[in-house]
Amino acid sequence: MTIAICPGSFDPVTKGHLDIIKRSAEIFDKVIVLVLINPAKTPTFTVAERVELLRRSMAELPEDCRGKVAVDSSTGLLVDYAKEHGARVAVKGLRAVTDFEYEFQQALINKKLYPEFETVFMTCNSHYMYLSSTMVKQIAAEGRDVREFIPAAIYEDVMNRVYRPRPCDADRAGV
Ligand code: ADP
Repeated sequence: MTIAICPGSFDPVTKGHLDIIKRSAEIFDKVIVLVLINPAKTPTFTVAERVELLRRSMAELPEDCRGKVAVDSSTGLLVDYAKEHGARVAVKGLRAVTDFEYEFQQALINKKLYPEFETVFMTCNSHYMYLSSTMVKQIAAEGRDVREFIPAAIYEDVMNRVYRPRPCDADRAGV
């Protein structure tokens, strides 16, 4: 049985992430979606919240994939979690060359720390090439509709957290 991990910040999960998770579940026996702490990023949602948003979003996966996917979190290193849980593969989605340098460095470090561990790069779906959690938050903060970018089940949570009406919005609403 091959267990794969889809690691990331998922702050919050987007349809781009869901696409990678679904395709991983079509290939591997079990997929663990693992929320990790990225020290380079200031999170909008806590780790517990991100796990909860991910779990709810799994309802959008086809039923045959859903049963193979679990959501978890770790405050430690990916390779340590992988060893503990018998996972030998990480699946990373690649959007563009800009993702590559960082992901390649991570993959090489993980290989050094855990030589049996493989990182598999999956090309992103062309529909989601431009999509990132950061972009979603920037657009939602302006009060724009982000429904096409994130799972419907988490839409309210994202808007409630990031949308900050400005004084001029009150004018537009006729307040
Ligand atoms: P990190 O903080 O590790 O970059 P992210 O949550 O931003 O975490 O991304 C997690 C993983 O999902 C990474 O492998 C990233 O390349 C991939 N990913 C992010 N957005 C997309 C997308 N739109 N399409 C495909 N893969 C994506």
